[in-house]
Amino acid sequence: MNDRVILHCDCNSFFASAESIDHPEYKTVPMAVGGDPKTRHGIVLAKNELAKKYNIQTAETIWSAMKKCPGLLVVPPHYELYSKLSRKINAIYQEYTDLVEPFSVDESWLDVTASQKLFGSGREIADTLRKRIEEEIGVTISVGVSFTKTFAKMGSDYKKPNATTVITRENFREILWPLPVEDMMFIGKNSAKMYHDRGIHTIGDLAKLDKDYVERISGKSGLDVWRKVNGIEDDPVMPAGYEYEAKSISHMVTFDHNLTDPEEIRTGALKIADEVGSRLRKSGKYAFVVYVQWKDPDLKVKQKQRKLHDSTNRTKEIYTVAMKLLSEIHRPYEPVRMLTVGVSDFTDVPVSQANLFEDPHTDEKQEKLEQTMDQIRARFGKNVVGFARTGKKKDTGNREES
Ligand SMILES: [Mg+2]
Repeated sequence: MNDRVILHCDCNSFFASAESIDHPEYKTVPMAVGGDPKTRHGIVLAKNELAKKYNIQTAETIWSAMKKCPGLLVVPPHYELYSKLSRKINAIYQEYTDLVEPFSVDESWLDVTASQKLFGSGREIADTLRKRIEEEIGVTISVGVSFTKTFAKMGSDYKKPNATTVITRENFREILWPLPVEDMMFIGKNSAKMYHDRGIHTIGDLAKLDKDYVERISGKSGLDVWRKVNGIEDDPVMPAGYEYEAKSISHMVTFDHNLTDPEEIRTGALKIADEVGSRLRKSGKYAFVVYVQWKDPDLKVKQKQRKLHDSTNRTKEIYTVAMKLLSEIHRPYEPVRMLTVGVSDFTDVPVSQANLFEDPHTDEKQEKLEQTMDQIRARFGKNVVGFARTGKKKDTGNREES
Protein backbone atom coordinates (compact mmCIF):
# COMPACT_ATOMS: atom_id res chain seq x y z
CA MET A 1 0.00 0.00 0.00
CA ASN A 2 1.23 3.44 -0.84
CA ASP A 3 2.01 5.85 1.95
CA ARG A 4 -0.40 8.64 2.70
CA VAL A 5 0.62 12.25 2.12
CA ILE A 6 -0.34 14.39 5.12
CA LEU A 7 0.23 18.10 5.58
CA HIS A 8 0.27 19.90 8.89
CA CYS A 9 -0.21 23.65 8.39
CA ASP A 10 0.62 25.97 11.27
CA CYS A 11 0.12 29.74 11.17
CA ASN A 12 3.23 31.57 12.38
CA SER A 13 2.73 33.75 15.47
CA PHE A 14 -0.95 33.63 14.61
CA PHE A 15 -2.44 36.15 17.04
CA ALA A 16 0.40 38.63 16.43
CA SER A 17 0.19 38.18 12.63
CA ALA A 18 -3.59 38.58 12.73
CA GLU A 19 -3.31 41.84 14.67
CA SER A 20 -0.79 43.13 12.13
CA ILE A 21 -3.06 42.67 9.11
CA ASP A 22 -4.88 45.96 9.69
CA HIS A 23 -1.91 47.50 11.54
CA PRO A 24 1.18 47.02 9.37
CA GLU A 25 3.05 49.34 11.75
CA TYR A 26 2.93 46.53 14.36
CA LYS A 27 5.41 44.63 12.22
CA THR A 28 8.08 47.29 12.65
CA VAL A 29 8.33 47.09 16.46
CA PRO A 30 8.61 44.30 19.04
CA MET A 31 4.99 43.41 19.71
CA ALA A 32 3.07 40.93 21.84
CA VAL A 33 -0.58 40.03 22.17
CA GLY A 34 -1.65 39.64 25.78
CA GLY A 35 -3.19 40.95 28.95
CA ASP A 36 -3.49 44.49 30.14
CA PRO A 37 -0.18 46.36 29.63
CA LYS A 38 -1.22 49.30 31.86
CA THR A 39 -1.55 47.21 34.99
CA ARG A 40 1.17 44.88 33.68
CA HIS A 41 -1.16 42.04 34.52
CA GLY A 42 -1.74 39.12 32.27
CA ILE A 43 0.47 36.97 30.13
CA VAL A 44 1.96 36.90 26.65
CA LEU A 45 -0.31 34.90 24.31
CA ALA A 46 1.77 35.49 21.16
CA LYS A 47 4.66 37.63 20.02
CA ASN A 48 6.02 38.79 16.69
CA GLU A 49 9.43 38.00 15.21
CA LEU A 50 11.04 41.18 16.59
CA ALA A 51 9.80 40.39 20.12
CA LYS A 52 11.23 36.87 19.80
CA LYS A 53 14.69 38.45 19.49
CA TYR A 54 14.28 39.61 23.10
CA ASN A 55 13.67 36.01 24.17
CA ILE A 56 10.07 36.77 25.09
CA GLN A 57 8.19 33.53 25.72
CA THR A 58 4.55 32.63 25.30
CA ALA A 59 2.79 32.42 28.70
CA GLU A 60 5.32 34.59 30.52
CA THR A 61 3.90 37.59 32.33
CA ILE A 62 3.64 40.93 30.54
CA TRP A 63 5.58 42.33 33.47
CA SER A 64 8.54 40.05 32.85
CA ALA A 65 8.34 40.52 29.05
CA MET A 66 8.47 44.29 29.48
CA LYS A 67 11.51 43.96 31.68
CA LYS A 68 13.28 42.15 28.82
CA CYS A 69 12.04 44.67 26.27
CA PRO A 70 10.88 48.00 27.78
CA GLY A 71 9.61 49.27 24.40
CA LEU A 72 7.40 46.22 23.88
CA LEU A 73 4.07 47.08 22.27
CA VAL A 74 1.32 45.05 23.96
CA VAL A 75 -1.95 44.60 22.08
CA PRO A 76 -5.05 43.01 23.64
CA PRO A 77 -6.36 39.84 21.97
CA HIS A 78 -9.34 39.84 19.57
CA TYR A 79 -10.59 36.28 19.57
CA GLU A 80 -13.41 36.88 17.11
CA LEU A 81 -10.92 38.10 14.53
CA TYR A 82 -8.83 34.95 15.04
CA SER A 83 -11.73 32.57 14.54
CA LYS A 84 -12.91 34.49 11.49
CA LEU A 85 -9.45 34.21 9.92
CA SER A 86 -9.24 30.58 10.97
CA ARG A 87 -12.46 29.77 9.09
CA LYS A 88 -11.17 31.56 5.97
CA ILE A 89 -7.86 29.70 6.11
CA ASN A 90 -9.54 26.31 6.56
CA ALA A 91 -11.82 27.11 3.61
CA ILE A 92 -8.72 27.55 1.44
CA TYR A 93 -7.36 24.20 2.69
CA GLN A 94 -10.66 22.59 1.74
CA GLU A 95 -10.16 23.59 -1.89
CA TYR A 96 -7.42 20.95 -1.96
CA THR A 97 -9.03 18.11 0.00
CA ASP A 98 -12.13 17.43 2.06
CA LEU A 99 -9.94 15.77 4.68
CA VAL A 100 -9.12 18.86 6.74
CA GLU A 101 -8.91 18.38 10.49
CA PRO A 102 -8.32 21.50 12.57
CA PHE A 103 -6.12 20.84 15.59
CA SER A 104 -6.44 24.32 17.07
CA VAL A 105 -7.44 27.78 15.88
CA ASP A 106 -4.24 28.08 13.84
CA GLU A 107 -3.27 24.50 12.97
CA SER A 108 -4.83 21.89 10.68
CA TRP A 109 -3.97 18.54 9.21
CA LEU A 110 -4.75 17.87 5.54
CA ASP A 111 -4.69 14.44 3.90
CA VAL A 112 -3.80 15.24 0.28
CA THR A 113 -3.03 11.68 -0.86
CA ALA A 114 -5.83 11.72 -3.43
CA SER A 115 -5.29 15.36 -4.41
CA GLN A 116 -1.84 14.94 -5.93
CA LYS A 117 -3.07 14.13 -9.45
CA LEU A 118 -4.83 17.49 -9.57
CA PHE A 119 -2.56 19.72 -7.55
CA GLY A 120 0.93 18.20 -7.58
CA SER A 121 3.06 16.52 -4.90
CA GLY A 122 2.68 17.10 -1.18
CA ARG A 123 5.54 19.59 -1.25
CA GLU A 124 4.00 21.45 -4.20
CA ILE A 125 0.63 21.69 -2.47
CA ALA A 126 2.37 22.89 0.70
CA ASP A 127 4.22 25.62 -1.23
CA THR A 128 1.03 26.66 -3.04
CA LEU A 129 -0.82 26.95 0.28
CA ARG A 130 1.96 28.98 1.86
CA LYS A 131 1.84 31.44 -1.02
CA ARG A 132 -1.95 31.67 -1.10
CA ILE A 133 -2.44 32.11 2.67
CA GLU A 134 0.20 34.82 2.73
CA GLU A 135 -1.29 36.68 -0.25
CA GLU A 136 -4.98 36.21 0.50
CA ILE A 137 -5.03 36.29 4.31
CA GLY A 138 -1.84 38.13 5.18
CA VAL A 139 -0.27 35.62 7.55
CA THR A 140 2.50 33.14 6.88
CA ILE A 141 2.29 29.43 7.61
CA SER A 142 4.80 26.65 8.11
CA VAL A 143 3.98 23.27 6.65
CA GLY A 144 5.19 19.79 7.46
CA VAL A 145 4.66 17.08 4.84
CA SER A 146 4.88 13.45 5.87
CA PHE A 147 3.32 9.99 5.93
CA THR A 148 1.94 10.28 9.49
CA LYS A 149 0.13 13.05 11.34
CA THR A 150 2.77 13.18 14.06
CA PHE A 151 5.67 13.58 11.63
CA ALA A 152 3.72 16.19 9.62
CA LYS A 153 3.19 18.15 12.83
CA MET A 154 6.84 17.86 13.80
CA GLY A 155 7.75 18.96 10.28
CA SER A 156 5.73 22.17 10.59
CA ASP A 157 7.53 22.89 13.87
CA TYR A 158 10.94 22.13 12.41
CA LYS A 159 11.40 25.24 10.32
CA LYS A 160 9.58 28.51 10.98
CA PRO A 161 8.40 30.95 9.76
CA ASN A 162 7.09 30.43 6.23
CA ALA A 163 8.75 27.11 5.37
CA THR A 164 7.96 23.65 4.05
CA THR A 165 9.66 20.63 5.63
CA VAL A 166 9.25 17.20 4.08
CA ILE A 167 9.78 14.22 6.39
CA THR A 168 10.09 10.91 4.56
CA ARG A 169 10.60 7.28 5.54
CA GLU A 170 14.20 7.82 4.45
CA ASN A 171 15.02 10.99 6.37
CA PHE A 172 12.89 10.97 9.54
CA ARG A 173 15.65 9.46 11.68
CA GLU A 174 18.18 12.00 10.50
CA ILE A 175 15.83 15.02 10.93
CA LEU A 176 13.71 14.22 13.99
CA TRP A 177 15.66 11.78 16.12
CA PRO A 178 18.36 14.28 17.26
CA LEU A 179 15.64 16.54 18.79
CA PRO A 180 15.13 16.51 22.59
CA VAL A 181 12.33 14.14 23.75
CA GLU A 182 10.23 17.08 24.99
CA ASP A 183 9.90 18.28 21.37
CA MET A 184 7.66 15.27 20.72
CA MET A 185 4.09 16.55 20.79
CA PHE A 186 2.73 13.94 23.20
CA ILE A 187 5.50 14.19 25.77
CA GLY A 188 4.69 16.56 28.62
CA LYS A 189 7.02 18.01 31.22
CA ASN A 190 6.63 15.13 33.66
CA SER A 191 7.28 12.38 31.10
CA ALA A 192 10.22 14.34 29.72
CA LYS A 193 11.77 14.47 33.17
CA MET A 194 11.15 10.75 33.67
CA TYR A 195 12.94 10.02 30.36
CA HIS A 196 15.86 12.35 31.09
CA ASP A 197 16.29 10.75 34.52
CA ARG A 198 16.75 7.45 32.72
CA GLY A 199 19.30 8.84 30.28
CA ILE A 200 16.80 9.08 27.42
CA HIS A 201 17.48 12.56 26.09
CA THR A 202 16.57 12.61 22.42
CA ILE A 203 13.63 11.34 20.39
CA GLY A 204 16.09 8.87 18.84
CA ASP A 205 17.09 7.59 22.29
CA LEU A 206 13.43 6.81 22.91
CA ALA A 207 12.80 5.34 19.46
CA LYS A 208 15.71 2.93 19.78
CA LEU A 209 14.61 1.51 23.15
CA ASP A 210 13.33 -2.00 23.51
CA LYS A 211 9.54 -2.06 23.18
CA ASP A 212 8.91 -3.99 26.40
CA TYR A 213 11.16 -1.67 28.37
CA VAL A 214 9.21 1.35 27.09
CA GLU A 215 5.96 -0.23 28.19
CA ARG A 216 7.43 -1.02 31.58
CA ILE A 217 8.60 2.55 32.28
CA SER A 218 5.81 4.52 30.60
CA GLY A 219 2.84 2.22 30.06
CA LYS A 220 0.52 1.94 27.08
CA SER A 221 0.63 5.65 26.34
CA GLY A 222 4.44 5.57 26.25
CA LEU A 223 4.29 2.64 23.88
CA ASP A 224 2.01 4.61 21.59
CA VAL A 225 4.53 7.47 21.53
CA TRP A 226 7.32 4.96 20.85
CA ARG A 227 5.40 3.66 17.81
CA LYS A 228 4.79 7.19 16.55
CA VAL A 229 8.45 8.22 16.73
CA ASN A 230 9.27 5.07 14.79
CA GLY A 231 6.83 6.13 12.06
CA ILE A 232 4.29 3.43 12.96
CA GLU A 233 0.95 5.25 12.98
CA ASP A 234 -2.26 5.10 10.99
CA ASP A 235 -4.33 7.77 12.79
CA PRO A 236 -6.57 9.18 10.05
CA VAL A 237 -7.08 12.84 9.17
CA MET A 238 -10.77 13.38 9.86
CA PRO A 239 -13.03 15.03 7.27
CA ALA A 240 -13.86 18.72 7.66
CA GLY A 241 -16.83 19.22 9.96
CA TYR A 242 -16.31 15.92 11.73
CA GLU A 243 -16.98 16.07 15.46
CA TYR A 244 -14.95 13.77 17.64
CA GLU A 245 -16.74 11.40 19.91
CA ALA A 246 -15.16 13.10 22.86
CA LYS A 247 -13.40 10.94 25.44
CA SER A 248 -13.37 13.78 27.89
CA ILE A 249 -14.79 17.26 28.28
CA SER A 250 -12.69 19.86 30.00
CA HIS A 251 -12.36 23.57 30.31
CA MET A 252 -9.25 25.54 31.17
CA VAL A 253 -8.95 29.16 32.20
CA THR A 254 -5.77 31.19 32.40
CA PHE A 255 -6.46 33.91 34.92
CA ASP A 256 -5.45 37.49 34.27
CA HIS A 257 -3.70 37.53 37.63
CA ASN A 258 -2.55 34.84 40.04
CA LEU A 259 -5.43 33.79 42.24
CA THR A 260 -4.63 33.40 45.92
CA ASP A 261 -7.89 34.43 47.57
CA PRO A 262 -9.84 31.19 48.31
CA GLU A 263 -13.09 32.92 47.42
CA GLU A 264 -11.74 33.92 44.01
CA ILE A 265 -10.50 30.39 43.41
CA ARG A 266 -13.93 28.98 44.29
CA THR A 267 -15.59 31.49 41.97
CA GLY A 268 -13.21 30.59 39.14
CA ALA A 269 -13.68 26.84 39.73
CA LEU A 270 -17.46 27.17 39.74
CA LYS A 271 -17.46 29.03 36.42
CA ILE A 272 -15.24 26.37 34.89
CA ALA A 273 -17.28 23.48 36.34
CA ASP A 274 -20.43 25.17 35.06
CA GLU A 275 -19.01 25.31 31.52
CA VAL A 276 -18.01 21.62 31.73
CA GLY A 277 -21.39 20.61 33.16
CA SER A 278 -23.35 22.47 30.52
CA ARG A 279 -21.27 20.95 27.69
CA LEU A 280 -21.66 17.52 29.25
CA ARG A 281 -25.45 17.87 29.39
CA LYS A 282 -25.46 19.15 25.82
CA SER A 283 -23.63 15.97 24.76
CA GLY A 284 -26.32 13.88 26.47
CA LYS A 285 -23.68 11.97 28.45
CA TYR A 286 -22.95 11.29 32.11
CA ALA A 287 -19.42 11.08 33.50
CA PHE A 288 -17.89 8.79 36.08
CA VAL A 289 -14.59 10.64 36.47
CA VAL A 290 -13.93 14.22 37.52
CA TYR A 291 -10.45 15.66 37.31
CA VAL A 292 -8.80 18.92 38.17
CA GLN A 293 -5.49 20.41 37.15
CA TRP A 294 -3.87 23.63 38.21
CA LYS A 295 -0.69 25.45 37.29
CA ASP A 296 1.33 27.83 39.40
CA PRO A 297 2.93 31.01 37.95
CA ASP A 298 5.89 28.92 36.72
CA LEU A 299 3.37 26.68 34.94
CA LYS A 300 4.21 23.77 37.21
CA VAL A 301 1.32 21.32 36.95
CA LYS A 302 -0.56 19.45 39.65
CA GLN A 303 -3.52 17.23 38.90
CA LYS A 304 -5.81 14.69 40.46
CA GLN A 305 -8.86 12.72 39.44
CA ARG A 306 -11.55 10.69 41.15
CA LYS A 307 -14.03 8.05 40.09
CA LEU A 308 -17.54 8.73 41.35
CA HIS A 309 -20.03 6.21 42.66
CA ASP A 310 -22.67 7.45 40.24
CA SER A 311 -22.05 8.93 36.83
CA THR A 312 -23.29 12.48 36.79
CA ASN A 313 -24.00 15.42 34.52
CA ARG A 314 -24.53 17.95 37.29
CA THR A 315 -22.50 21.11 37.65
CA LYS A 316 -22.90 21.15 41.38
CA GLU A 317 -21.45 17.68 41.80
CA ILE A 318 -18.62 18.32 39.34
CA TYR A 319 -17.78 21.51 41.21
CA THR A 320 -17.93 19.87 44.64
CA VAL A 321 -15.66 16.99 43.61
CA ALA A 322 -13.29 19.37 41.81
CA MET A 323 -12.94 21.53 44.92
CA LYS A 324 -12.35 18.45 47.06
CA LEU A 325 -9.62 17.27 44.66
CA LEU A 326 -8.12 20.74 44.55
CA SER A 327 -7.91 20.88 48.33
CA GLU A 328 -5.78 17.73 48.17
CA ILE A 329 -3.22 19.17 45.73
CA HIS A 330 -3.33 22.87 46.52
CA ARG A 331 -2.33 24.56 49.77
CA PRO A 332 -4.36 27.62 50.78
CA TYR A 333 -2.95 30.85 49.29
CA GLU A 334 -0.67 29.11 46.79
CA PRO A 335 -1.00 31.30 43.65
CA VAL A 336 -3.03 29.74 40.84
CA ARG A 337 -2.33 30.82 37.26
CA MET A 338 -4.38 28.26 35.30
CA LEU A 339 -7.18 25.99 36.35
CA THR A 340 -8.76 23.09 34.46
CA VAL A 341 -11.76 21.00 35.40
CA GLY A 342 -12.64 17.99 33.30
CA VAL A 343 -14.85 14.93 33.19
CA SER A 344 -14.37 11.58 31.47
CA ASP A 345 -15.44 7.94 31.48
CA PHE A 346 -18.85 8.56 29.94
CA THR A 347 -22.07 6.63 30.14
CA ASP A 348 -25.16 7.17 28.01
CA VAL A 349 -27.51 6.98 30.98
CA PRO A 350 -26.87 7.76 34.63
CA VAL A 351 -25.28 4.68 36.16
CA SER A 352 -24.76 3.90 39.80
CA GLN A 353 -21.76 1.78 40.69
CA ALA A 354 -22.99 1.25 44.22
CA ASN A 355 -26.25 -0.28 43.24
CA LEU A 356 -27.06 -0.78 39.60
CA PHE A 357 -30.73 -1.42 40.42
CA GLU A 358 -31.23 1.72 42.41
CA ASP A 359 -33.00 4.60 40.74
CA PRO A 360 -30.18 6.99 39.95
CA HIS A 361 -32.46 10.00 39.74
CA THR A 362 -32.25 10.80 43.40
CA ASP A 363 -31.70 14.45 42.81
CA GLU A 364 -34.04 15.15 39.94
CA LYS A 365 -34.72 18.66 41.07
CA GLN A 366 -31.10 19.75 40.71
CA GLU A 367 -30.89 18.06 37.33
CA LYS A 368 -34.06 19.80 36.14
CA LEU A 369 -32.77 23.14 37.31
CA GLU A 370 -29.50 22.73 35.44
CA GLN A 371 -31.33 21.62 32.28
CA THR A 372 -33.51 24.71 32.45
CA MET A 373 -30.42 26.86 32.81
CA ASP A 374 -28.89 25.21 29.75
CA GLN A 375 -32.00 25.99 27.75
CA ILE A 376 -31.96 29.62 28.81
CA ARG A 377 -28.28 29.84 27.96
CA ALA A 378 -28.86 28.29 24.55
CA ARG A 379 -31.51 30.91 23.81
CA PHE A 380 -30.05 34.01 25.35
CA GLY A 381 -26.32 33.42 25.53
CA LYS A 382 -23.91 32.10 28.08
CA ASN A 383 -23.71 34.93 30.53
CA VAL A 384 -27.38 35.33 31.23
CA VAL A 385 -27.72 32.81 34.02
CA GLY A 386 -25.38 31.32 36.52
CA PHE A 387 -25.08 30.04 40.00
CA ALA A 388 -25.12 32.50 42.81
CA ARG A 389 -21.36 32.41 43.16
CA THR A 390 -20.70 33.18 39.49
CA GLY A 391 -20.47 36.89 38.92
CA LYS A 392 -20.17 37.71 42.59
CA LYS A 393 -16.64 38.88 41.97
CA LYS A 394 -15.23 40.41 38.83
CA ASP A 395 -14.61 38.18 35.83
CA THR A 396 -11.51 36.19 36.58
CA GLY A 397 -10.63 34.69 33.23
CA ASN A 398 -8.85 36.36 30.34
CA ARG A 399 -8.15 33.34 28.19
CA GLU A 400 -10.31 30.30 27.89
CA GLU A 401 -9.64 27.14 26.00
CA SER A 402 -11.30 23.83 25.71
MG1 LIG B 1 1.02 28.50 15.26
